[in-house]
Amino acid sequence: MHSLWEKQSFLSPDVVIVGAGITGLSAAATLKELSPDMKVTVLERGVLPTGASTKNAGFACFGSVSELLNDIDTLGPEGMVNLVEKRWDGLQKTCQRLGRSAIDIQVKSGYELILEEGSGIVEKIDNVNQLLNPFFQEDVFKLSDAKIDSFGLGQTHHLIENHLEGQLDTGRLIATLWKYCAELGVQIHTGCKVDNIIEEENGVSILCGNVKFLAEKVGVCTNAFTSKLLKEELDIAPGRGIVMSIVPDKSLPFEGTFHYEEGYYYFRDYYGKLLFGGGRNLALKEEETTEFGVNKKIREKLLLDIENIILPNQSYEIEMEWTGIMAFGQNKAPIVQKVSDRIAIGVRLGGMGVAIGSLVGEEVAELIVNS
Ligand SMILES: Cc1cc2nc3c(=O)[nH]c(=O)nc-3n(C[C@H](O)[C@H](O)[C@H](O)COP(=O)(O)OP(=O)(O)OC[C@H]3O[C@@H](n4cnc5c(N)ncnc54)[C@H](O)[C@@H]3O)c2cc1C
Repeated sequence: MHSLWEKQSFLSPDVVIVGAGITGLSAAATLKELSPDMKVTVLERGVLPTGASTKNAGFACFGSVSELLNDIDTLGPEGMVNLVEKRWDGLQKTCQRLGRSAIDIQVKSGYELILEEGSGIVEKIDNVNQLLNPFFQEDVFKLSDAKIDSFGLGQTHHLIENHLEGQLDTGRLIATLWKYCAELGVQIHTGCKVDNIIEEENGVSILCGNVKFLAEKVGVCTNAFTSKLLKEELDIAPGRGIVMSIVPDKSLPFEGTFHYEEGYYYFRDYYGKLLFGGGRNLALKEEETTEFGVNKKIREKLLLDIENIILPNQSYEIEMEWTGIMAFGQNKAPIVQKVSDRIAIGVRLGGMGVAIGSLVGEEVAELIVNS
């Protein structure tokens, strides 16, 4: 039973956004930027966001050569370029909205390790550069084999450098975006799991336990968890990813962001520490889960890779480890669409949602405003 005051001030916003990850918060921020008087409420099931946005490795990246070649296979050359442009524009949007120093973005170059001799990837650097040249007006990728030894990398035949790739502080990104939304007047309720969304004649009911919100419009930004909430058939499969924070005995011989095996493995420096994760490809079916937890087989492989590839001959301590849940489909393009006149979704952000999240949020907001 609610009071008149609760009904007026909390339970009847103009728009409810479900999910307080980068996409949901960006959608809420855009709505308030477009319409400052609009009453916007974000509902988040966790005490903290509990998906991918506060669990990732903080790569400000838009794809390594092998990943982009794979995107050409699934989306075609134009689709690949379009996705890269969106990731780049999304990063610029986040920096411009929140400020570069607030999210601690640092552009120290990104590198792809080629572990397999004769993989054919190096030969295709020029093709990928040519496709991206009209957008960036310069070559993005180049071979940097001379750095392999100084970085102390084992088992690495080639190193491809992308001087535009950076890294950021994921926690600060979400905390700053949260603060920005609050300053714009967005109400954010945590510990508020949406159980059901029901369209009524006079609006949309959003049910969270025994609390019912009634809004004009709803934006669903629940990424990997969307199928649990909506009845629509959507091509979304969850994908769990692990990250470890590692303290090496000696100082790290490299700085920057690094990927190998089509981005399935990723590591970076973070103020003298190593953040390392990935390995989902070792157990794709097992990792198609929304349960947080660590797969022992993957963990063991990561430890082997630290010893053989990343920090050969160095001792280290594992300081922390955690997992987060991503969302994948047949290709890497996010799903942004209206599912009815009153409900829009922006989901399936894949493994590069830090880059694309603010743009997907903006698109969700535009669908809501223009419907
Ligand atoms: C281990 C890992 C490493 C990654 N590394 C990178 C990287 O380095 N660079 C990069 O660009 N991307 C990376 N990503 C991907 C990136 O983090 C995601 O693509 C992005 O954060 C997705 O944002 P989102 O807001 O769409 O989804 P999420 O962050 O998952 O947000 C969805 C939110 O919805 C909430 N929710 C779900 N169901 C409900 C409900 N019923 N009611 C209320 N709330 C609900 C969840 O709790 C969650 O907070 C990584 C992801 C992981 C897991």
